[in-house]
Amino acid sequence: MTAITTMAAHTHDCPDCLSETRLVHLADNIHVVQILHDDTCPTYQRIEGD
Ligand SMILES: [Zn+2]
Repeated sequence: MTAITTMAAHTHDCPDCLSETRLVHLADNIHVVQILHDDTCPTYQRIEGD
């Protein structure tokens, strides 16, 4: 479980900024990886702009 979570966090790391990944606990055995982008990140702005 821990190994899978770690892998997912790395997979979702943003290549365009020094993003932080945070593991959010939603419920028992349900976690999601949240990406915290820099405000100037082009990827983040593209996502927000849609
Ligand atoms: Zn980013």
